[in-house]
Amino acid sequence: MKKHNYSAGPCILPQEVFEKSAAAILDFNHSGLSILEISHRSKDFVAVMDEARALVLELLGLEGKGYQALFMHGGASLEFLMVPCNLMKQDGKAAYLDTGTWANNAIKEAKFFGETVVAASSKEANYSFIPKDFSIPADADYFHCTSNNTIFGTQMKSFPETNVPLVCDMSSDIFSRTIDFSKFDLIYAGAQKNMGPAGATLAVVKEAILGKTGRSIPSMLDYQKHIAAESMYNTPAVFPVYASLLTLQWLKSLGGISAIEKINEQKAALLYTEIDRNPLFKGTANIEDRSNMNATFLLNDEAHAPLFDELWKKAGISGIPGHRSVGGYRASMYNALPLESVQVLVDVMKELETKI
Ligand code: PMP
Repeated sequence: MKKHNYSAGPCILPQEVFEKSAAAILDFNHSGLSILEISHRSKDFVAVMDEARALVLELLGLEGKGYQALFMHGGASLEFLMVPCNLMKQDGKAAYLDTGTWANNAIKEAKFFGETVVAASSKEANYSFIPKDFSIPADADYFHCTSNNTIFGTQMKSFPETNVPLVCDMSSDIFSRTIDFSKFDLIYAGAQKNMGPAGATLAVVKEAILGKTGRSIPSMLDYQKHIAAESMYNTPAVFPVYASLLTLQWLKSLGGISAIEKINEQKAALLYTEIDRNPLFKGTANIEDRSNMNATFLLNDEAHAPLFDELWKKAGISGIPGHRSVGGYRASMYNALPLESVQVLVDVMKELETKI
C-alpha cells in the first residue's frame, strides 16, 4: 500500500515523476541507455538542463528579468556560504533574520566572511513566530531571510521592503505559493522538497548583483563561473536534475504556482482547522505565522501518544513525528501531497477523540 507521506524532506513527489524517473533509469529517451550512464555533455542531457533552468524562471515569472537559474551541488547548506562569498564585500557586512535552525546555520557561515548583523530573532520563543518590526542597516551588503522554517512550522507571509539586495532561503516552500519573486536578488533551495530528489540545489541569481565584492572566489563557489558554464562547470547531479525537470513539468501542467497554491491552502486549512477544533491537540506556531507547508502540533496530554501513534500508523501515514527541537508532530504538506492524505490524518485525529 502506498503511504500518506508527510516526510519533511526528502519527501513525496508526484507519482508520475516516480514512474517517468523509473522508466528513464531503464531507457532514457529510447536511447538504449539509462539516464544514470549517459554523459552530462550528451545532447539529450544538455536539453534536460536547459529546459529545467528555463522552466524554473518561467514558473517563478522571472523570464527576461536578468536572472539565471543554476543547478548545483552541496545543498542549501553550501549556499549558506556561497551567498556571503559572492555578495559580502571585503570588510563588508550582511543582515540576517534569525527565524530558526537553518537561518542560524546561514548566519554561522556568513561569519566566516565578515560582520553579520542579526536584524531580529525569535530564538527566545523557540522560533514560534516571525519577527515583524525590525530595521535593516542601509549599508548592509544584503539582507538574508528564510521564507519557511521547516522545523518550527512558521512561514513569512510578507517580505521587507529594502534597498539592499534581498536573499532568501526558500528550500521548503519554493514553487508552493505566488510571491513577487522579482523582489528577490537571490533565491536558493535544496531540491528535496517541492522540486525533486536530494542531490541538486537550485539558485536563482540576478546577474547584476554579482562581481562586486572585491574578493577572490574559489571557482566552485563562484556563481559567475557557474553561469558562464551554463550550470555545467563540473558534472551536475544528472539524475536529480532530470527528476526535478519532471516535477517542474508536472507543476506547469497543473497550471503552475497559482494552481498549486490553491490546493496547498485547502490542505493547510483542513489540517489547521482540526488542530484548533480538536481539544486533544494544539499548534506550536503563532497562528498568523503558520506554515502552509509544515504544520507543527502537539498532543495536550502526552499520555495519548501511544494510541495516536498506533492509529496513524494503521492508517498508512508516514513521517509525522516532529523534529526533536519542537517535539510532537509535524505534518509536511508539500506540493505533491494530495488533499486526500490530509483528510486521512484529520480523520485519525477525530478517531482519537472518540477513543478517549
Ligand atoms: N534551509 C531550510 C529551510 C531547510 O529546510 C533545510 C533542510 N531541511 C536546509 C536549509 C538545509 O538544506 P540541505 O540539507 O539541502 O543543505
